Amino acid sequence: MSKEQMYCVKCKKKVMVEAKPVTMKNGRKALTGKCSCGTKVFKMVGNK
Ligand SMILES: [Zn+2]
Repeated sequence: MSKEQMYCVKCKKKVMVEAKPVTMKNGRKALTGKCSCGTKVFKMVGNK
């Protein structure tokens, strides 16, 4: 897994998390991970 910077809504800041690639129902790619506070963070992959 790779580390990715994502925004945590609970911490209200960008955090480095272990990013896991996922493909959503509509075929779009995204990255998901878990902040150290336990909140699930999510990031859309814009390019490609
Ligand atoms: Zn957090």
